[in-house]
Amino acid sequence: MAHGRTLFISDLHLDAADPIAIELFLHFLRAEASTCDALYILGDLFETWIGDDDDEPTRRRVVAALCQLTANGVQCFFQHGNRDFLLGPGFMAASGCTLLPDLTTLELGERRFVLMHGDQLCTDDRRYQRFRRIVRNGLVQGAWLALPLGLRRRLATALRHRSRVYTRQMADSIMDVSPAAVTDLMRSTGAEVLVHGHTHRPAVHPVNVDGKTYTRIVLGDWPDQASVLVVDSDGQFTVRSLAPQ
Ligand code: MN
Repeated sequence: MAHGRTLFISDLHLDAADPIAIELFLHFLRAEASTCDALYILGDLFETWIGDDDDEPTRRRVVAALCQLTANGVQCFFQHGNRDFLLGPGFMAASGCTLLPDLTTLELGERRFVLMHGDQLCTDDRRYQRFRRIVRNGLVQGAWLALPLGLRRRLATALRHRSRVYTRQMADSIMDVSPAAVTDLMRSTGAEVLVHGHTHRPAVHPVNVDGKTYTRIVLGDWPDQASVLVVDSDGQFTVRSLAPQ
């Protein structure tokens, strides 16, 4: 322990239908993540999450692997994505992960980082933001979780299909983050570095705000664009590809 490294990943979209991403993640937990101080998962760990009572075997394997990591003393923090926002207290208890607010600031060394999944920054997509407000409502979530597991599975499959059709017909610029939302966020948080996922456009962007240059790091989606941000105890950072060769 105390190697002084903090790791950040996002958008694993783990699902039984994609064994490559699952094996890559389980290997990452056993190898690189096992010697870090803390691991931050910035949302969409799972392709879907219909409730903590889902006993599907792939999900249980992932939870067990996270539990082993945290039992070995690596802190693991999690933010909700737009696919797995129903990950609840049952998952956190079983995995040893700690749920973070959707917008979290973190000081590492001299640097302040702001962390989020990133869907909140896509403010030009009005229809999605309306949908987000509905599905993040506590009463709506309570009604959903009260449905039988089998019905939730069938409904989730239908919803995923509709979401894919919607994503295909939307312009690329609307699906990306709004520059104004990024500027507002850097001003309001005073952070130097914004880290997010969601857009599946991994990159390190300079961001100019009020005459200063900040950094926006976009983490890639697994497995093909998998990336990890590594921050040392001084706040120095590097982004590495984890994609399978
Ligand atoms: Mn997402």
